Amino acid sequence: MTKQPATETAIPTVKLLINGEWVESAATEYRQVVNPATQQVLARVPLATRAEVDAAVGAAQRAFASWRHTPIGARLRIMLKYQALIREHSKRIAAILTAEQGKTLSDAEGDIFRGLEVVEHAASIGTLQQGGFAENVAAAVDTYTLQQPIGVCAGITPFNFPAMIPLWMFPMAIVCGNTFVLKPSEQDPLSTMELVALALEAGVPPGVLNVVHGAKDVVDALCTHPDVKAVSFVGSTAVGTHVYNLAGSHGKRVQSMMGAKNHAVVLPDAHKEQTLNALVGAAFGAAGQRCMATSVAVLVGAARDWLPDLIAKARTLKVGAGAEPGTDVGPVVSVAAKQRILGLIEAGVQEGATLALDGRDVSVPGYPDGNFIGPTVFTDVTTGMSIYTQEIFGPVLVVIGVDTLDEAIALVNRNPFGNGTGVFTQSGAAARKFQSEIDVGQVGINIPIPVPVPYFSFTGSRGSKLGDLGPYGKQVVQFYTQTKTVTARWFDDETVNQGVNTTIALR
Ligand code: NAD
Repeated sequence: MTKQPATETAIPTVKLLINGEWVESAATEYRQVVNPATQQVLARVPLATRAEVDAAVGAAQRAFASWRHTPIGARLRIMLKYQALIREHSKRIAAILTAEQGKTLSDAEGDIFRGLEVVEHAASIGTLQQGGFAENVAAAVDTYTLQQPIGVCAGITPFNFPAMIPLWMFPMAIVCGNTFVLKPSEQDPLSTMELVALALEAGVPPGVLNVVHGAKDVVDALCTHPDVKAVSFVGSTAVGTHVYNLAGSHGKRVQSMMGAKNHAVVLPDAHKEQTLNALVGAAFGAAGQRCMATSVAVLVGAARDWLPDLIAKARTLKVGAGAEPGTDVGPVVSVAAKQRILGLIEAGVQEGATLALDGRDVSVPGYPDGNFIGPTVFTDVTTGMSIYTQEIFGPVLVVIGVDTLDEAIALVNRNPFGNGTGVFTQSGAAARKFQSEIDVGQVGINIPIPVPVPYFSFTGSRGSKLGDLGPYGKQVVQFYTQTKTVTARWFDDETVNQGVNTTIALR
């Protein structure tokens, strides 16, 4: 692979979006967007200045004054146009996403599609944002609620889903009548920016959607800005906890979706072939860089005998560049991510786990510089080892054997994370026991990655989530609106005045 000459002038700079204008940042610091398969530098991203953050929030604040009064029909028709545009441009944006993030083209299309589903659902805002009404709560008195937008909302997104996760956030915020400032991942903002451009084309007015780039300073500025009313964060546990505490202590509504350790519990009565396919796909697809990736397989009883077949199936996956046909496992996002994952694999070896499948020395013809790690499987793992306690976020599956379903449930419930889990079984009774007793936000039954469709909400729990209300679905309408309760009496001219009422009773 030839590398693009890395002269600063040849590399495009990612723009900010402020008040409907694409703005060249006055930043003095930049990060590079790098193709993880080739190390080609695709763009440079500015770390926006404080003045630019203020300008973006200011534009959003001014736009809110009129946008909040825009009729529902006008808002939802923008979403209808937006979903059509995303559909039309999906393949083009998927190619950009693969180039900057590394995942396969079909998975990049999936990334966009799962976000597109949220935009489709946003077009139902007419029914989603309805209040309640009770007639005659007292004589001639009615009570009703309004779900009103809250103002400027901010969103901070991770590298692993540069299409889906921004689309979890700004379409729902905007369609509720809010305005938005988005801070995309500085590692792969290019596909996000394509989706932002399509939102403008669909008719999102100037100032309603703004974008600033950056890292900690920009995030902290958004979390503490007096005009920002709500912050949505998706990313690692360390940063998510910081954002939750900082924004919360500045009076913001916050939802913080964080790291994970997702267990798949396999009972011996499960359909073997389907289960092994599901496990291998969920553990190694997207190079294990999904918040809902299966990172721990818990083999119960005789299902432990399936280990050789699990490893054999993992071995068949093709590691390669995401843009190459037939690739199953692309590179991890950066050189730093690869080093971190290799460090954890080495820690697993040092701590005494058995490296049953070692993906460290994989080589990919034509891509000598890519951040590749092949499927890696550890057995003989104990719960104190760092490969079990830490989120590896790479193509590494940890396998643990237990004797009973009860033991498996106890193991999963002891783990501090609560993002996703799955049970594989043909027994309805076992599945029902699992769904009832497991303390994890999202449960799959013979489904490895149970990410809910947008008419439900994303419901991670415990150490994987801070804040009550999750992304998309009905919960996010609650998150992006405040309830106003109106109690109204309309007298007709004949109504006899009942005199002064000095009690709290409605009469
Ligand atoms: P990250 O926490 O490094 O970055 C997320 C965002 O925070 C980025 O926009 C980044 O610029 C910003 N950021 C980074 N350091 C910061 C700091 N010190 N202060 C303030 N902001 C900072 O996460 P990532 O590596 O981009 O994404 C992977 C992580 O996201 C994994 O832990 C994964 O499990 C998690 N994730 C969770 C969900 C979920 O729904 N629970 C979904 C996707 C990803």
